[in-house]
Amino acid sequence: MTSTAAIPGIPAASADSAKTLAVRAKRMKQRRQMFDLIAVSYLIDTALLLIYAYAGTISFGNVPAYFASAMVVTGGNILLSETGFHDRFKDHYLVVPTVAVNMALVIGFSFWMPQVAFLFMGSLFIIFSMASLRATPGQSLLCWAAMTVALAGLFLFTDSPLAMPHGSLLERIATWLVLVLTIGRCIFIGMYSSKLRQSLYRRGAELREAYQRIEELAELDELTGTFNRRCIMRMLNEEIDRAERSATPLSLALIDLDWFKRINDGFGHPIGDEVLRTFAITIFANIRSFDRFGRYGGEEFLLLLPNTTRADAEGMLERLREIVAELDWTAFSPGMKVTLSAGIATTATADSADTVLTRADSALYTAKEMGRNRIFAI
Ligand code: GH3
Ligand code: MG
Ligand code: MG
Repeated sequence: MTSTAAIPGIPAASADSAKTLAVRAKRMKQRRQMFDLIAVSYLIDTALLLIYAYAGTISFGNVPAYFASAMVVTGGNILLSETGFHDRFKDHYLVVPTVAVNMALVIGFSFWMPQVAFLFMGSLFIIFSMASLRATPGQSLLCWAAMTVALAGLFLFTDSPLAMPHGSLLERIATWLVLVLTIGRCIFIGMYSSKLRQSLYRRGAELREAYQRIEELAELDELTGTFNRRCIMRMLNEEIDRAERSATPLSLALIDLDWFKRINDGFGHPIGDEVLRTFAITIFANIRSFDRFGRYGGEEFLLLLPNTTRADAEGMLERLREIVAELDWTAFSPGMKVTLSAGIATTATADSADTVLTRADSALYTAKEMGRNRIFAI
């Protein structure tokens, strides 16, 4: 498992088992929902059978027999589910066995009470609608094949007509209700399925968003929003290749804030963070769209200037230096001044990222030596 030490302070093993328990509890809740729906559906059927009993189509004794069988099947399923039996299987809904048991029940009762077979045939539609919520195509086909065989048995072994009662008014009302409520339950299951699809779609969209955020976090520096070191270094290599291919000059500037330690010491680290953010935004606002700006580390930044000669780079950095120096930093704290020093290097043929960075670094060192708040180009 990759969730090792995912929860700080909790050992990996117990974090994993907490996760497993949470997943199991969620699955159990989903199954409970399904079994509750099945139980309600059987209750509706029982009520309809009662009407048929009143109409004299079946004897009253048949109704509790059906109700008891339905409750034994559903109650048994609920009991097994709650004790975690279902969790032992990959398909924790146990679609095929659940369909088989329910199908056996309704086909068995069709055989026993063919005078109201119409009601049980309706139940088959409901069973298959429910199954389609969770079944794989293979499972659906298997259930369908089983139903084909079971129905063949029913039609072959009974010679009494499988009836749709419509003799008396009460029978016609009951049969009308059977039809309406069967279709109603199928519609309800359809609505439930569309709710499931919507929540799946929503979760997919959330996952895509989270993934995008992770990608951004992997590329951007959290504090300043500039490219992080890994990303700007990758870009440096890409720009060096591009400069070589197109035979154009690439300049780069290592920019370091002057006396930044004093800013932290004098105004506090949180203000130091704000200064870094404002500095980064200021630079961003004043470079070209194809320039690349990233945090090299601490208060040191790397600016890549593609297709820029040393002289042009010097001009651009001089302008940035002035903008930063002239910014009204007193808004952060009275008396605050922020300046930068930068070392510029321009690539020559066969330069690697390391060599050009070393040159920029020594140019920066010279700029600092010369008194800071200045640009030096090699
Ligand atoms: P110099 O002009 O020679 O560059 O002096 P300096 O004080 O800027 O140089 P030094 O490298 O000694 O200090 C850099 C300081 O930048 C030290 C460190 O605490 C601070 N720093 C680095 N990263 C951050 C950060 O993310 N937030 C804040 N507030 N300070 C930071
Ligand atoms: Mg510094
Ligand atoms: Mg520094």
